[in-house]
Amino acid sequence: MSFNLKNNIKDFLCCSKCQIEFESGMTDSESLQEYSKLDVGFTDIGLQVWCRRHEINVCHIDFEGNELETDFRCLLEYSNN
Ligand SMILES: [Zn+2]
Repeated sequence: MSFNLKNNIKDFLCCSKCQIEFESGMTDSESLQEYSKLDVGFTDIGLQVWCRRHEINVCHIDFEGNELETDFRCLLEYSNN
């Protein structure tokens, strides 16, 4: 049941311009994930991923009016220290 609350990402989204900059060695970032500055949020039609660095669309998913099942819970790990 908590499976969906773990990191299930198989294919990371990235901005193509950020990818080009990172792969050409223009940055000091250790990974493309670190270099990326992505905003993720709901829009009138669905969900959009936006590159803050380049101010361009990375991905915009159109839900086509469907109300999709969404889980906003998060798993927190507690320690007894
Ligand atoms: Zn970018």
